Amino acid sequence: MTEEKVLIINTGGTISMVPSDKNDPESALRPSKSWSEVVKNYQFLENLNVGYAQIKDVIDSSDMNCEVWKEIAEIIDENYYKYKGFVILHGTDTMSYTAGMLSFMLKNLGKTVILTGAQRPIREVRSDGLQNLLTSIEIIERQNKISKGKSEYSLPLIPEVCVFFRDYLFRGNRSRKLNTSNYFGFSSPNYLFLGEAGSKIKVYEDRLLKLPEPEEKFYVDYEMDTNVVILDVFPSFNPEILMNIFSGKGNMKGLILKTYGNGNAPQNKEFLKALKFVIDSGVVVLNVTQCNEGSVEMGIYEASSELVKLGVVSGHDMTPEAAITKFMHILGKYSDIEIIKEKLNENIAGEISMNVWKNAL
Ligand code: ASP
Repeated sequence: MTEEKVLIINTGGTISMVPSDKNDPESALRPSKSWSEVVKNYQFLENLNVGYAQIKDVIDSSDMNCEVWKEIAEIIDENYYKYKGFVILHGTDTMSYTAGMLSFMLKNLGKTVILTGAQRPIREVRSDGLQNLLTSIEIIERQNKISKGKSEYSLPLIPEVCVFFRDYLFRGNRSRKLNTSNYFGFSSPNYLFLGEAGSKIKVYEDRLLKLPEPEEKFYVDYEMDTNVVILDVFPSFNPEILMNIFSGKGNMKGLILKTYGNGNAPQNKEFLKALKFVIDSGVVVLNVTQCNEGSVEMGIYEASSELVKLGVVSGHDMTPEAAITKFMHILGKYSDIEIIKEKLNENIAGEISMNVWKNAL
């Protein structure tokens, strides 16, 4: 094995799906365990000069969970020094969650991890999967290659977890699935794309995370705690929902509130009382916006001033996917509420744009 090669890690998703009924091409899609079956129409894919691994049970990514995240991270952990980089084949439905979680788990990452998938199975002629897979591999293979007379041949090292879809390379923990079927299904509304791929591939170095220092060795942080819930506020939100969820037998530790605009929420007494009850019971509340673009800035309106007083933490411009996975990651590591709040507010892997809003905690 050589460090020149890319390791493909197949987790399932549409890209590697086949019809559940062999005789009915219209039947519901299921992930295939057999790579040969997946690439049936593209023999050359079987002969690519890459490594191949797959998780024990390939899944529709609707079934993604902590155990699978750990399994994926373990594959990277075991193979980190054997491969040049990693392309993870993943269902599009939860790809941004996995990208978020991996960005927090893979510490001092000095190689590229790209998640990609497809809106149609790769075995179909009109699939978007072939380009997504081949371009992801190429983005890694061409990193720091000696130019052979073509100045555009070499690409910079991207020390991050990314998502590649159609023509764009995104920071993974900034990405979102924004369209159920469009081949440009992903975007990263709060951060510029890291690269773009047409007939030429460009990577924008000034948008990338910094490489770790040589003494900062790669490791995987496997700890996580799933006692988090995310709720949208909406007009006429019934505060009893909060009371019911948080007075139960569960061990909930985190609530993410998806609020309006800059982080505004209802100000009626019942809602604030319920929120106080939640916070007093030891739950940390994180505020992210329902808007696709922009940031929570509590205190702009009175409709968020009370949240600040109650001790709600600002999620700044984090995506909901990044907020959930970061919360699980932080809860897995810390139990002190003040530390949890402080860590949520810190920029760990490029998931928030600012790190200086301490007074908005
Ligand atoms: N349900 C599929 C999945 O997430 C959708 C896809 O891959 O596009 O696995």
